[in-house]
Amino acid sequence: MLAQRANLFSSSGTAAARAAAKAAADAGMEIIDLTAGEIWSNLAPVIRDGAIEAINKGINRYTETIGTMELREELARKISLDTDQIWKAEEIAVTSGAKQALFNAAMVLLNPGDAVIIPAPYWTTFPAQVLIAGGTPVFVDTRTSGYVPRVVDIKAAVTDRTRAIVINTPNNPTGAVYDVPTLRGIADLAVKRNLWIIFDECYGDFVHGHHTHHPIASIVPEVRSRTLIVNGFSKSLALTGWRIGYLAGPKEVINAVKAFQSHTTSNPNVIAQHAVLAHLQRGDGAYESKLRSQLASARQMGLDVLSSLTRVPVPKAAGGFYFYLDLSRLLQSVSGNGGRTTADDIVDSLLSEAGVAAVSGTTFGDPTGLRLSYGIPPVRLRIGLSRLVQVLNAWR
Ligand code: PLP
Repeated sequence: MLAQRANLFSSSGTAAARAAAKAAADAGMEIIDLTAGEIWSNLAPVIRDGAIEAINKGINRYTETIGTMELREELARKISLDTDQIWKAEEIAVTSGAKQALFNAAMVLLNPGDAVIIPAPYWTTFPAQVLIAGGTPVFVDTRTSGYVPRVVDIKAAVTDRTRAIVINTPNNPTGAVYDVPTLRGIADLAVKRNLWIIFDECYGDFVHGHHTHHPIASIVPEVRSRTLIVNGFSKSLALTGWRIGYLAGPKEVINAVKAFQSHTTSNPNVIAQHAVLAHLQRGDGAYESKLRSQLASARQMGLDVLSSLTRVPVPKAAGGFYFYLDLSRLLQSVSGNGGRTTADDIVDSLLSEAGVAAVSGTTFGDPTGLRLSYGIPPVRLRIGLSRLVQVLNAWR
C-alpha cells in the first residue's frame, strides 16, 4: 500500500516514549515524565509581545520562502557574534524548526548512496533523514571515549562514498560537549577529504561546569565553506511549539534550500518569525539567563540524587538538559538471562514499578543507555529521580 520509502523510518523513539508515558497516565498512573526534549518554562516576554504586536498589525501573509529579510539580517548578526566571523542574510535560511533545516540540508546535499558519518549514540532524526534523502548513515561508536568521537575513528569510517559528517554538540542524547582538539581534527579531516559538516548546535546555550561550546567554523575558519550550521529557538528560548530554526552556510546551498523549501512548506509561521525578530532586536538576555540558571540548579540537584546509584556511574551531563546513564555495568550484573536484557527492559520497569518515563538508549543506537530530561519542575524531578534510583539499585 505504501511506498518503499515509508519502510525507511518509523515514528521517532522519543515520541513513542512520550506516548507510552501518556498512555500510562491516561490509565490512571501517576507518571513523572523525564522523556521531554523541551524545557518547562513560561514564554519569554519579548516573544509574547512580538507575536501580539504582529497580530495587532494584521500581519497574515506569506513571507519570503526562507524568512523575512529583517529576520535573516538579525540572524546574520547573531551568527556573526557567535562565530566571530561576518555572516550575511544571503547565507541564512529560516526554517520551521531546526528539524527542517536538517532535512533541507540532507535533501540538497545527498546523492543516492552517499554515506553520512554520525557519531553514536545519536539523535534519531539524523539517520532517519539521511535514509529518506537516499543516503546511508554510517555510525561511529563514542561509548568508550566519553561520548566524544575519536578523530581516528571518524577517519577510519571515511570512504570514497562519504559525503558528510554530522556533528551535534552539545549532544542529544549524551550531553557530551566536543572539545577543541576533537573539533579541529574533524574540521581538518573534512577539508582534506572534501566533506560537508552538518553542525547542529541547538543546545549550544546550555553548557555546564568548565565546558564551553565552540562553533566549529570559529576554530578552523577554512571549514566554513563546507559547514552548514543548524540551530533554532526551540531549546534556547524554550519555544518548541513555535517552530523557528535556521540553517546557515554557503550561498549556493541556501539558494538550493530556498527552492526546495518553496515546494515543501514555504515560509515558517509569520507570527513566530515576528516574535523571534522582536526577541533578537529587543531581548536583554534576562530570560536566557533565567533559563540557564534554572537548568543549572536542576542539573546539580539531579546529580546529587543520581550519586546514590550503586551500579551506574553518575553522568557527566556536560551540556544540554539530559542525564545520559550508562547502564552497561548494571545490565552485565543481571545474571541468568543470557545477556539479553537491554535498556528497553529497564524503561519498562521504570514505567510500571516507579511511574517514571525515560527514553531507552535503543532509540539512539545504544541498547545500554538511558536518557532522562531534567527540563521539568524541580519537585517532580527530585521525586522521579529518587524513584528511579530505588528501582535501579534494586534491579536483579
Ligand atoms: N537537533 C537536535 C540535536 C535536537 O535534539 C532537536 C530536537 O530535539 C532538533 C535538532 C530539532 O529541534 P526543532 O526542530 O524543535 O528546532
